Amino acid sequence: MAGLDRETLEAILSALDDFARRELPNERLLDFDLKDEFPAEVIRELCGPDLGIHLVFVPENVGGMGGDATDVYRCCEALARIDLGIATGVLATCLGSDPIRVGGTPEQQAKWLGRIAEEGILLAYGATEPAAGSDLGALRSTATPIEQDGKVVGYTLNGRKQWISNGGVAEVATILASAPAGPSWFIVERGTPGFSAGKPEDKHGIRASNTAALWLEDVKVDADRLVGGVEGQGLQQAQAVFGYTRLMVAAFGLGAGWAALDRAIPYAKDRVQGGSPLSEKQGYTHKLIVPHAARLEATRAYIEEVAETLGDGAHGLPTEGAIAKYLATEAGNAAAEASIQALGGYGYTREYMVEKIKRDVRITTIYEGTSEIMEMTIARDRWQQHLKTRGQHYHQEARALESLAGRHPAVGANIAALALHALADVLERARAARLTRHQHVLFRLGELIAYAEVAGAAARRAAEVAEGRRREKGHPRFDATALAAFSRIFARDAALRVATEGLRWLRGADGAAGDLGPLGEGLRLDAIFAAQAGLIADMDQIADVLFERSAAAVAQSA
Ligand SMILES: Cc1cc2nc3c(=O)[nH]c(=O)nc-3n(C[C@H](O)[C@H](O)[C@H](O)COP(=O)(O)OP(=O)(O)OC[C@H]3O[C@@H](n4cnc5c(N)ncnc54)[C@H](O)[C@@H]3O)c2cc1C
Repeated sequence: MAGLDRETLEAILSALDDFARRELPNERLLDFDLKDEFPAEVIRELCGPDLGIHLVFVPENVGGMGGDATDVYRCCEALARIDLGIATGVLATCLGSDPIRVGGTPEQQAKWLGRIAEEGILLAYGATEPAAGSDLGALRSTATPIEQDGKVVGYTLNGRKQWISNGGVAEVATILASAPAGPSWFIVERGTPGFSAGKPEDKHGIRASNTAALWLEDVKVDADRLVGGVEGQGLQQAQAVFGYTRLMVAAFGLGAGWAALDRAIPYAKDRVQGGSPLSEKQGYTHKLIVPHAARLEATRAYIEEVAETLGDGAHGLPTEGAIAKYLATEAGNAAAEASIQALGGYGYTREYMVEKIKRDVRITTIYEGTSEIMEMTIARDRWQQHLKTRGQHYHQEARALESLAGRHPAVGANIAALALHALADVLERARAARLTRHQHVLFRLGELIAYAEVAGAAARRAAEVAEGRRREKGHPRFDATALAAFSRIFARDAALRVATEGLRWLRGADGAAGDLGPLGEGLRLDAIFAAQAGLIADMDQIADVLFERSAAAVAQSA
């Protein structure tokens, strides 16, 4: 997929920014939130002839702009920085069109994707049901074939969908239902007899998005509404876009996390307590701002790698999508939570926006697969890789980073390598003692795997930028020196986490049997602790960058 050129992408992002400045001041966004109002006219403008943000998500051959995964991630991040409820309204159309994009016949693609491109219609993605959330296999909605002269001419759909974004406002919904040959997607238009939506849910956050239940009571659709024309492909079609859709929600985590930090940062520069601005107090910056910026930027490195791989035509990548979504949304949540604290009492009030951002970003660890399901997905896949490579996979990754560290000693590659070696050791010990029979151990491994892999990506990104090879359409905010410091901060956290949390859960699951043997050596704990040297200095450096501080001012205030 060619994607947009950099100038076009930047022009779209800048138009979006101008639109938000002009049309979406804080007061208006807070008003949508307070009134629980879906701003249909805003979504229509975003997907209208002037801005056409939706065209980035639609392939070129059906009238869209054919953005690649990097374009999509950058646009999703930009939308989320503005308002996650509005971003969800746009995402839902994209999700709703995905089954058609990956599995539709050429005629279905031309017709339905063409309508999104030309008319800016809104779609909804109807997978979840009251009894089928994380476990879509428990699907109860049915699609019963209607036969005429021995030929299937249509289907009767029955069932109930729950928590569907755009459910009450979309012109078209894609609905997952069980046909005789298995789960399948159906295209259902609003107004089809028997198809109705519930009233909008009263939600904790993203209140500017419409979320509603959908009812299907003897809804009759023609056979050409079965996506792909073949029954039983539904779960594979959903699976095929997980890499891509999880990356979109990962970008939401990044956008909302930075939206919160970018409110806390100027606040801290202005707010004087104890005789100097908060931005000059380490106990504040190094707890509430710097570690969150580091987590967000490390995850961005991973997102950009995955986006580029998807852009090069790779299919699926559900595990990589899961790692990106898991860490970026958890980081976005933590950054928003810390930003409330950073604004003190003001942060707890609505006017300063971080309170709303925190409520909004909360959804990102739930929809498109919960964090726990991401942990399970990551752990199961990488466990297989560990077994297939006889425990060598992460040692090999670590060696590649050690070689990178030889060329770029400052980018944290050696520390990321320690994280990956420790991970390989933890996995191998868990295998030998059969500890993944404990679900909690398996899920914790998922978390540690995500940290270690992201540490590797952050080091690679810092090295690329140091070599002047910044990704063509990558986010341009930080220079090579800052990226290297971000990478080192994150890698220290990852290495320590893998070793100590790994040890904790191995021991915790091992119980009295004690089959694990001595642990310290393989985990290289001494080296991991030694690698923490310089952490405070790196955090000081990032604080200088974020708060645009001069070293002299900080020394004076201390
Ligand atoms: C605002 C909003 C918008 C949404 N938009 C859409 C949409 O447009 N289309 C759509 O189809 N769906 C949508 N959803 C649904 C969303 O994807 C689901 O809520 C989500 O997948 C989780 O399903 P669930 O709510 O049934 O929770 P459950 O699956 O019941 O999970 C409850 C808890 O149990 C954990 N859990 C679940 N299974 C396991 C397991 N095997 N092992 C350990 N722990 C487990 C989960 O991690 C979670 O913490 C939306 C939801 C919300 C709230």
